[in-house]
Parts: sequence; C-alpha cells; structure tokens
Amino acid sequence: MKHLLSIEELDRAAIERIVSQAERFSEVSDREIKTVPALRNRMVLNLFYEASTRTRGSFELAAKRLSADVVNFTASGSSVEKGESLKDTVLTLSAHKPDAIVLRTPWAGAAALVSQWCAAAIVNAGDGKHEHPTQALLDVYTLRRRLGAIDGASIWIVGDVAHSRVARSDVLAFQKMGARVTLAGPPTLIPREIEALGCEVRYTLDELPSADVVYALRMQNERMEETWVPSVREYAAWYQINAQRLRPEQILMHPGPVNRGVELSGEVADSPQAIITAQVEAGVVVRMAVLYELLAPNRTGLEPGPVPAEGRTPESGTDDLAPAGARGAGVGEGQPA
Ligand code: ASP
Repeated sequence: MKHLLSIEELDRAAIERIVSQAERFSEVSDREIKTVPALRNRMVLNLFYEASTRTRGSFELAAKRLSADVVNFTASGSSVEKGESLKDTVLTLSAHKPDAIVLRTPWAGAAALVSQWCAAAIVNAGDGKHEHPTQALLDVYTLRRRLGAIDGASIWIVGDVAHSRVARSDVLAFQKMGARVTLAGPPTLIPREIEALGCEVRYTLDELPSADVVYALRMQNERMEETWVPSVREYAAWYQINAQRLRPEQILMHPGPVNRGVELSGEVADSPQAIITAQVEAGVVVRMAVLYELLAPNRTGLEPGPVPAEGRTPESGTDDLAPAGARGAGVGEGQPA
C-alpha cells in the first residue's frame, strides 16, 4: 500500500491487517517504554488546513511512538495566509523530503491530488466531506474489541450524513466488515440515492431500538452554506440520541467533537454505553498501524529484539518493535528518566 486515501480503495483483508496491527501496538502502549524504533529516521509531516483536536494529536503521538521525526504544519500562521496555493505549499514542504504527509483539507479529493505531486506516502486525515479513512479504521478497531466481530451487527448512523466524511468512510468500512448499516436523519441531511452504497435509509428514529450500535454525527455547520434544518431545537427534538431513545444494551459512538444538547444529550454522552473515549484512545494505535503499514520496510509482529545502535535504521523486521527507549532512541517519550 503506497497511500491511504480512502476506505473505498481498501478491501476487507487490508482493513483487517491494519486493525490487527493496531491490536499488536496496543500491547506496546501498555508497556512502560511506549516507543519502538520502527520508523527511526523517517519523517512524518502533518499538514492541516482545518481544525483538529483528536486527529492531529494522535497522528503526532503515533509517529513519535514509532520514533519518526514529526513536523507539524498548520495553514494558519503560515504562508497560506499570504496566498500560497496547496500545490506550492506541498512542493515547498517536500524539499524537506518527508516520508509521509498526513493531510487534512476542506477540499474533497485533495489527498488524491497531492499524492500525484510528491514522492511521500499520503495519508488522508479528512478531505472535505469526502472521506476520513483513519476515523473509520479506528471505529472498526473499537467496535471489534467491543463486539468481537462486526459481521451481522446492525449499525445506525444518525445525523448530518450529507456533510460528513466520517459517515461515508464508516458506511464503507462497516459494510466491508459485514455489518448492516442504516442511515437516519432529516431528509435534507441524507444525500439522495445514498442507498446505492448498500445501506438503508430512515427519516425517523422509530426503529432505532433494533440497532446494536448507534453512531451519532455532529451537524457540520462549517460545510453548510444555507440552513438545512428549521432550528437546532427542532433537530434535537426529532433526532437527538438521549436516554429515552437509547436502549441500555446499545453501544453509543461519536467521532467527536460532541455538541452536547444537540446530537447527544449530556446524559448519554457520559453513560457507560458511550465508547467515545475508547474511540479517541484507539486513534493512536490505529494511526501507528497506518504509518507502519505505509513506511516500515519489514513489517513483523511484536517480538522484542535487539535495539539498533544510534543512527542506524533497523535492518531486520524483528528489530522494529523492540523498545526504543532502552538506549539511544532519540525520542524523548518513554525514555527512562
Ligand atoms: N472530527 C470529525 C471530522 O473531522 C467529525 C466532526 O468534525 O464532526 O470529520
């Protein structure tokens, strides 16, 4: 795999490979020294043109835990504000020879375009309302840990499907993993002919009790040029996931950020049914697995091995996942004090 641009281009085997690798990395995350040398001397550039709390932070942590060098670039405060185009920005930053560029932009298709402009592996961290593949992979990972298998599960995705890249990636990923997906929300926020993806559509929550998993979406106001619902109050009255609508056995998910009182009541957001924090936690190991898949020369399991000497990239795959902090890792995190 050269890039991660969308879930659309992944098959079930690729999703399972990444998720299984993330499971191995979760063992690394439980160690006292959490850093491994797998991507030593590799460089990851985080290039973000849109706000992010979870995704950017977890990509940075993931790269650091793999001992990669990380450069963070945000559009605000950069030459983008002086009018520099995406292409010129990418070409300029490519002079530093990044091995991977993690890219978030408000433009659908931007990640695929950038993959044609430079040699780095491109990871789509959200391109407009098109896709957010690493969110879907971490959702699959989180659900698989919770349910054992996703095959046959009924997953309802509720809310602003029309403007949500998470919804698109999740529909594709959950279905590839064998789930039955239903999209629910006001007719104005459900794209026409979305059933072509193989999912069902409902405009009320009457049948919500049949779901095993309820996945709530935020209203993507930043992508709306006009008013799509009469009022937030009315939206909440019809579609908010709250204690009256959620059955105690149902699992509740949300990609964050949550708008409490709109798509979720505070009560359900804080309930033990909500696995929103587990989703955030999964973000680090799943993004480690994605960077490892794209950049590690010899992918292996988690066998501890000899730590490579300073300045040397591990030659054998068994070195990749040995603790990096024991000597000369060059990364602060996880090193003995
Ligand atoms: N954080 C997710 C995204 O960037 C979902 C959201 O913003 O509502 O698409």
